[in-house]
Amino acid sequence: MKTIEVKVNGLTIGGTAPIVVQTMCNTHTQEIEKSVLQCIEMADAGAEMVRLTTQGLKEVEALKEIKRKLIEKGYNIPLVADVHFSSDVAIAVASVADKVRINPGNFAKEHSVAKSQFAKFIEVCKANNTAVRIGLNHGSLGERIVNLYGDTPLGMKEAAIEWLKMCAENDFHNVVISLKASNTIVMVTAYRLLKEEMERLDMRFPIHLGVTEAGNGDMGRIKSAVGIGALLADGIGDTIRVSLTENPVNEIPAAQTIAGYMAKEMAVGKYWSDIKAINEQLEAGVKIPEYKFFECDWNSFIIKASCLFGPLLLDKKIDDFNVSCTIIQRDEIKSGTNESATTSVEISKEAIEEFKENLMQAARRKFTQPEYIACPGCGRTLYNLEETFNKVKEKTKHLKGLRIAVMGCIVNGPGEMADADYGYVGEGAGKVAIYRGKEPVYRSVPQEEAIDILLQLIENDANKNRQ
Ligand code: SF4
Repeated sequence: MKTIEVKVNGLTIGGTAPIVVQTMCNTHTQEIEKSVLQCIEMADAGAEMVRLTTQGLKEVEALKEIKRKLIEKGYNIPLVADVHFSSDVAIAVASVADKVRINPGNFAKEHSVAKSQFAKFIEVCKANNTAVRIGLNHGSLGERIVNLYGDTPLGMKEAAIEWLKMCAENDFHNVVISLKASNTIVMVTAYRLLKEEMERLDMRFPIHLGVTEAGNGDMGRIKSAVGIGALLADGIGDTIRVSLTENPVNEIPAAQTIAGYMAKEMAVGKYWSDIKAINEQLEAGVKIPEYKFFECDWNSFIIKASCLFGPLLLDKKIDDFNVSCTIIQRDEIKSGTNESATTSVEISKEAIEEFKENLMQAARRKFTQPEYIACPGCGRTLYNLEETFNKVKEKTKHLKGLRIAVMGCIVNGPGEMADADYGYVGEGAGKVAIYRGKEPVYRSVPQEEAIDILLQLIENDANKNRQ
């Protein structure tokens, strides 16, 4: 989809610019030195834009200082303020950050108030040349939209169009839009609806893609590659973020692999000829053909294979696939020569089977394990999210079919875990809330006891259901 260019401190998103890879700090924004160091680490790893949590006016001041220090150290990387709920903070930071991410539907309960605050906000953005991302996640739509359309892809699209129209009416075009979800079908459907409607209305705002709360490890990467890959294959997407419940620096190579694979393969037409060949063989009734990858590491393989097969599975164009991979690693230069030796290792059948199971589940075709929804964490997270998430996964891995969320904060966590059956939500100061669906069953549980209490709740519910 042809989009207009949005400028963020010299960086171009949209138009004919290559896909922009971005990420987000998980430091507390008020910890200025730590945040500066993390921004530098991310920029050195290839991030082109970095987002920081901006909860209040203290964080606005901290962001100003972070920017100053980064420039002093030679890093003029565009900084994005992530604002939730407070329109006053959004307005204040609009003259500080290069870009502000907001969900205007959450500016106020009253739609008319949210609209007038949004109008004030875009005036400040216009005056300061600040870009905006309207980020509408599944699970965090405003009450009015949910009442009208439900928490659905249609509701996400309608909300987006409503705010984009307001930008256009106010002659403000420095806007990027995103409609993220943890469920890859919800996410892909929402963006496709948005693209259709934007084309119909001749709106050309650039699109930010991401699978939110994707979790970590293989599944986090696979889910992201399925959702983002499916949309890039449709020609949708100008900037991407892979959200992982890990060190955020790990997000960058994953995003670069998706963006690089899709851009390169699609540019030479290989992506489509690969897909065509797979489909032709399937239609001809040939036993599922083996597709062979040669990659330099496991993560490249699972990401590229998910980009290739994920969209076909998601769109039900194939029901199964057959893949193998040889990992080729270049060793050190042989002494006395210019040649470097290479080592080839064939990935085991067991590892391929495990990857296939993960991909089938990420594309929502076959559920063989619990579904985990975990946010990447940010400056609002006050506990060790990654460690806790791994413990929860370990203790619940037998609970096939259950949707279990582990969220960093009580401000956005309960909304953004969307349709999870159970949730572990950080409340701050060593306390956790345990949710059943949208209902907080236990509040202020000491962190040390929280996983056991979550497990107990799940077990008690299962026993009641059995009776
Ligand atoms: S849910 Fe997670 S990523 Fe979102 S604001 Fe809270 S801590 Fe940050």
